[in-house]
Amino acid sequence: MINTAHRIEFFPEKCVGCQLCYKACFVDVIRWDPEAKKPIFKYVSDCEHCFCCQAVCKKEAIRVIPDYSSEHLLQSFERYA
Ligand code: SF4
Ligand code: SF4
Repeated sequence: MINTAHRIEFFPEKCVGCQLCYKACFVDVIRWDPEAKKPIFKYVSDCEHCFCCQAVCKKEAIRVIPDYSSEHLLQSFERYA
């Protein structure tokens, strides 16, 4: 397992529960909380930082902050050393 420092900032007070971010995420980073009607950022280390969730959110409730230093690890054989 690679430890990454990918971060996603979420500002729930801005969120209107439209689900666009949840539908936009093509990996399983974003789950949906039906009771709170808000996204849950569950597997942030799997984030591909495509920025789709941030782009579709018209309320600017999401900010994706990639950890590019871990990209180096993912694209090399160092992790097998
Ligand atoms: S796209 Fe934005 S407003 Fe819509 S559910 Fe996601 S965080 Fe909330
Ligand atoms: S940046 Fe892309 S992969 Fe990461 S949580 Fe948002 S939609 Fe999913």
